[in-house]
Amino acid sequence: MASLASIKAWHYECDLLICGFGLAGACAAIEATDRFPHQEVLVIEKAPAKHAGGNSRVSGQSLMMPGDRQALLNYQRKMNEANPVDEELLTYWVDEMCALEPWIRARAEEAGARFIYGNGFTDRETVLEYPEYGAREAVAHTATILPIPSGVWLAFEKNVQKRNINIKFEHALIDLIQDPDTLEVFGAVVEHRGERLAIKAKRGVLIATGGYENNLDMQRNYFGLTHAYAMGTPYNTGDGVKILQKAGADLWHMRSKGQSGGLWPAIQTPHQDTVFLRNILMQTFSWIDLASDGKRFYNETDDLRRTHYKELKHGHYMDVPLASYLPITMIFDETTRQHNCMVFRPFTWNTVVEGYQWSDDNSAEIESGLIIKADTLEELAAKLSMDTDTVLATIDAYNKGCAQGQDELGRAPETLQAIATGPFYALNIVPGIVCTGGGAKRDTQSRVLGHDQQPIPRLYEAGELGSMFSHLYQNGCYLTEAMITGRAAAKHALAETPWTE
Ligand SMILES: Cc1cc2nc3c(=O)[nH]c(=O)nc-3n(C[C@H](O)[C@H](O)[C@H](O)COP(=O)(O)OP(=O)(O)OC[C@H]3O[C@@H](n4cnc5c(N)ncnc54)[C@H](O)[C@@H]3O)c2cc1C
Repeated sequence: MASLASIKAWHYECDLLICGFGLAGACAAIEATDRFPHQEVLVIEKAPAKHAGGNSRVSGQSLMMPGDRQALLNYQRKMNEANPVDEELLTYWVDEMCALEPWIRARAEEAGARFIYGNGFTDRETVLEYPEYGAREAVAHTATILPIPSGVWLAFEKNVQKRNINIKFEHALIDLIQDPDTLEVFGAVVEHRGERLAIKAKRGVLIATGGYENNLDMQRNYFGLTHAYAMGTPYNTGDGVKILQKAGADLWHMRSKGQSGGLWPAIQTPHQDTVFLRNILMQTFSWIDLASDGKRFYNETDDLRRTHYKELKHGHYMDVPLASYLPITMIFDETTRQHNCMVFRPFTWNTVVEGYQWSDDNSAEIESGLIIKADTLEELAAKLSMDTDTVLATIDAYNKGCAQGQDELGRAPETLQAIATGPFYALNIVPGIVCTGGGAKRDTQSRVLGHDQQPIPRLYEAGELGSMFSHLYQNGCYLTEAMITGRAAAKHALAETPWTE
């Protein structure tokens, strides 16, 4: 932390400093301006303007709309059971969720955009992740704002633009200015193109800088992953977590099963920092995934994508072990090559922001050598760094299962399609991370709590950084949590009495 005495001059002043321009930061800025039109709000964002929006911009844009209030409370309590959160926070969240839809609709309308039920890219309306825990009663709808991609983000970005909120891009939060005894926060130190600037925040500082999904060191130390590849913004590198640690915050949920909502099958290319999501809506099924020993290890075509790649085993939800058996190799045939673009386009940084054009029929990626091609399965197996006989035996066993209509790993009969039409292909699959939920413990007002469980004066946190979801996560709850916590932070921070020098 930097002390007040170390600050020689203030470069900017505001009432509320919002760090991070993703959905949590945007919602805080909107709420602040609507409730306190005469107070000054400043948003700083590490990325340049063309890369702003964080994970919020490249996410699936799905928003969870609750059903029965009590059912939602029970459902979330059950999902948090392994690491319970305070009942007061849980109840507050449920009430806010139940009241959220009209506010979102108003934001869509203000932006001239359409709010719809559904997710805009498949006709299955509601994603019920954990039916055993009561999802059917708790979740009424999945909703989104059009267009696809980025509709929710674009609508909220437009709301921010309409309010003429001051945003400084390429300004990264690097430290807080604090009283070393009371921990009271007076402002922040930011870095802009190599220069350090001091910003005075008279009423509060909100940290909404996302998670640590792009920080492999932190993934290894906090989540135990040896390899993890982000599908969202490359700018979320855990800065907020480190700054909050320095500020005396009590951390929570650094290793949560709701982390990201699981590990997804992803594809890495040599020139991108982040990874592609493998197509989750494959039209054909003549493909399998192999672990490093050349054997299959899960039911690849189960409805796993709807449970954020979690399998129900002996009554417990587990991550599909995509990160445990690396390298993973996908094997597919000509039918699958022809009918499916291997990457999923509606979300991820590479497709939405970088605009990487993966070829529809995968021919460019075969040409580039990213996808290995061979005329026969024997030739393909020989090209892989695995035991050839094991690979061939695995494919043979899978194909025999297809002929018999029964799969040893439980694939549904309608997804049993033999790998039979040459040429044949292999593609390396890596574990893709959606986001992380760890950060500082916070209360219903989005105040950051210190180790004594008391709020650190004038310090707020919102969004996926320090998320409330401590174990399992229901689709559509991260974006709505970013809205709720961002708004709460603005409401309470701007009600504080300004500090004086
Ligand atoms: C591929 C994908 C699909 C997803 N699908 C869904 C979905 O359908 N529904 C759902 O609810 N959730 C989904 N999520 C999760 C959801 O997108 C995030 O949890 C949510 O967007 C978090 O919002 P946020 O504002 O906290 O963070 P972000 O939107 O990530 O914003 C954080 C911002 O902080 C900036 N920043 C980082 N460090 C600094 C710094 N030092 N100083 C200043 N700025 C900084 C970043 O550049 C970024 O702009 C998905 C995520 C991904 C990646």
